[in-house]
Amino acid sequence: MKNLKIAIQKSGRLNEKSVQLLKNCGLDFENYKSSLITTVNNFSLEILFLRDDDIPGYVAQGIADLGIVGENVIDESRVTVEYLQRLGFGKCTLKIGVPKDSAIKKVDDLQGKAIATSYPVILQEFLDEHKIQATIREISGSVEIAPGLGLSDAICDIVSTGGTLKSNGLKPFADVRKSEAILIGSKGIEENPILCELLQRIQSVLRAKETKYVVLNVEKTNLPQITELLHGVKSPTVVPLAEEGWVAVHTVITEDDFWDKINTLKAAGAQGIVVMPIEKIIL
Ligand code: ATP
Ligand code: ZN
Repeated sequence: MKNLKIAIQKSGRLNEKSVQLLKNCGLDFENYKSSLITTVNNFSLEILFLRDDDIPGYVAQGIADLGIVGENVIDESRVTVEYLQRLGFGKCTLKIGVPKDSAIKKVDDLQGKAIATSYPVILQEFLDEHKIQATIREISGSVEIAPGLGLSDAICDIVSTGGTLKSNGLKPFADVRKSEAILIGSKGIEENPILCELLQRIQSVLRAKETKYVVLNVEKTNLPQITELLHGVKSPTVVPLAEEGWVAVHTVITEDDFWDKINTLKAAGAQGIVVMPIEKIIL
């Protein structure tokens, strides 16, 4: 069967995590900084290393069958691709920022103003939604300095912690779009058996990331209470300890409200709780 081609970012914020995800799926490949294409040794896949902006277009045209890219880049490129799997990394928000002392207090105040951004398509959609007419000044980088230079009244850029905004005398003002990395595919790729296998592996890696393997000790008398708390897990493994009347419980718990769950288990008599990462969960 013909190899599939997957496009990932060559360097930048998504590169490392994209490479790591593919490696965690058991794919064996060389990752030289200089190579633009590499063949996976143990799977029918070639990896193309591209600028993220080019990935949606390559996938839409079928030059690459698959791609890993931020949702913001897909929206900005306006091409049609299949959304196959959210990947849980590269999370960020496209926000509008204004100078700290700006008179712009609400979205309506952007009427007639100039906004600098590298994301003119997404920003225009946001402005249209709010029925605002504003001038979009498209610049390709260092958008945060535009207001200071008198180029714009506001900016629209990606923010994760807000540190860059702050150090340039700006404050976040309105959220335009949330984004995370996503696996995309060209039209008609969903049924491809190589993709189905890859997708199954990706999902097992993602599931494992959301869960932890937990071993705890508990007195036998408290066991019913503990197993009650662990409902949702098919059946925890219970192993007798050398000390009479005690058992070890092995189980898997999900990462959401992790500390609440651990504290409730402790309150119910769990001791010596050991938490371990899980590599893969195959259903
Ligand atoms: P390229 O050279 O490939 O064009 P770039 O400079 O356009 O790279 P990066 O800064 O590497 O892009 O960001 C790539 C993607 O990572 C963004 O499109 C976005 O989806 C996500 N991203 C950007 N900034 C952050 C951030 N601060 N935190 C998390 N994810 C981010
Ligand atoms: Zn880019």
